[in-house]
Amino acid sequence: MGLLDGKRLLITGVITDGSIAFAIARLAQQEGATVVLTGYGRMSLVERVARKLPQPPSVIELDVADAGQLDSLADRVREHVDGLDGVVHSIGFAPASCLGGDFLDAPWEDVSTAVQISTYSLKSLAVACLPLFGEDGGSVLGLTFDATVAWPGYDWMGVAKAGLESTSRYLARELGPRRIRCNLVSAGPLRTMAAKSIPGFATFEDAWSSRAPLGWSNTDLEPVARTSVALLSDWLPATTGEIVHVDGGFHAMGV
Ligand code: NAD
Repeated sequence: MGLLDGKRLLITGVITDGSIAFAIARLAQQEGATVVLTGYGRMSLVERVARKLPQPPSVIELDVADAGQLDSLADRVREHVDGLDGVVHSIGFAPASCLGGDFLDAPWEDVSTAVQISTYSLKSLAVACLPLFGEDGGSVLGLTFDATVAWPGYDWMGVAKAGLESTSRYLARELGPRRIRCNLVSAGPLRTMAAKSIPGFATFEDAWSSRAPLGWSNTDLEPVARTSVALLSDWLPATTGEIVHVDGGFHAMGV
């Protein structure tokens, strides 16, 4: 008996087998879920990576900034599954000017891109998937990096994450009456492709290794995958608008 037996999930954000979304998809399948992936941009690469999952899933294209692709998403998902019980938003992007210490100089056009792709897209994705949820509702899940404080070099991505955390709470408010929960996992630093584009990422890794009371491995995606699967399951049925930290306890320590 798996934790996600019978669940149908749409998972965004796989670009490599080191993506957080890949680890969530793998564990979800192991726990009995039927998974459909969305890919962005390099579709042949995403399809190749998808074949490394225990059960190679269907992959459909989704650029969260493309209104046409969002409008047709539900119909395209229906070609593979008859509905959804969960959606994973594992998407983030900020132009180079928005990261790395030039906080005061980043132009609005670039900041707006970061916010559209990393923040507003949680709402866009949830709304695009609404027709696929049944009367029992389901679970929408996103990934954040603790946005209650300012981090060196994370800059406008940090602002975008603060917006994502707020968006998740508003989605919880809007979608609760349909029995759809919306929660975020706040992960510690993990060496994914997105992380490599953050100048000074090593500073975070050093801080975590000295401060996280449980310790922290920046290459182990299993803790984030496990918590994500739990949030996608029926085992947190009255939890919404929540941010669950999967960071080795870092956020709770003063120094
Ligand atoms: P990743 O590079 O593997 O995944 C980022 C994904 O975003 C990619 O699959 C990319 O294709 C997708 N994406 C970018 N623009 C898109 C668009 N316009 N439409 C659709 N998809 C688009 O990196 P990751 O670390 O696995 O990132 C997943 C999520 O986890 C992000 O929200 C990230 O901010 C968050 N997160 C990462 C860390 C970390 O340390 N790696 C920590 C906390 C939170």
